[in-house]
Amino acid sequence: MKSFDFIRYHDQLRDSLTSTLSEVKSRGDLCVVMTGLTDLLEVELAKHLTVEDHELLACAAGCGSCCMVNVSVLDPEAVNIARYLKGQLSDIERETLLLSMKKMVNAISDVDEEERIAMRRSCTFLSDKGECTIYPVRPLLCRSITSTSATACRDALAMQALGEQLPVVMNLFQKNLFDVGYQGLAKAMENNDMDSHGAELTAAVLQHMNDGLAKKN
Ligand code: SF4
Repeated sequence: MKSFDFIRYHDQLRDSLTSTLSEVKSRGDLCVVMTGLTDLLEVELAKHLTVEDHELLACAAGCGSCCMVNVSVLDPEAVNIARYLKGQLSDIERETLLLSMKKMVNAISDVDEEERIAMRRSCTFLSDKGECTIYPVRPLLCRSITSTSATACRDALAMQALGEQLPVVMNLFQKNLFDVGYQGLAKAMENNDMDSHGAELTAAVLQHMNDGLAKKN
C-alpha cells in the first residue's frame, strides 16, 4: 500500500463536510453532499489502486457472498438510497421491495451479528443474479470491503456464524479510505448537531421510503 495520511484525510473530510452540511436546506441537498463524498472517495481510490491491485480482487457482480451481514449506514446515505430507489422503481416494484424490506427488518431486528450471518439471508438489495441493485449509491461500508477470494469470504462467514474469526485478505487502502469517509461524515454530522449514529441499512432506508420524506425536496 502506498503511503497515505489517513488521519489528515479524515480531518480534511470532516472540516469540509462540516461546512457543506451547514448549508444543507433540503433532502435533495443532502443527496448532493452524499454523491459528492462518494465521487471524491472513488476518485481517490482510483488514483491509488494499481493494475496489480485490481487483478488481485475477486469481487465482481454476480458474487454477493459477503452481502449477508448487517451494514451500518449514516442518515445521508439512507436518504440518498431511498431517493435513488424512488427514481428507479415502478409503483409495483416499490411495493414489492417495501414488503421484502419489512420482512427483512422483522427477521433481523432482534438478532446479533453471528445469528444474522447464520440466517444466511442475503441483503434485500441483492438481486437473484447476485448483483447489488443500489450499486451507484451503495453504502460507504459496502465499498470498503474487498476480497482476493470468494471462497475465503464464504469460509470466514461460515466460521463467524459459529463465533470464530478467519482472516480474509482484502485491499487495506480501500478499506481504510471508505472507513475514513464514513467516520469523517459522522463527525461532520455531529458538528452540525445531526444524529451521527449508524443504523442498519434496510431499516434506515425503509424509514425514509415509508415516511415519504424521500418524496420531498
Ligand atoms: S447494499 Fe449492495 S453491496 Fe451492500 S450488502 Fe446490500 S447488496 Fe451487498
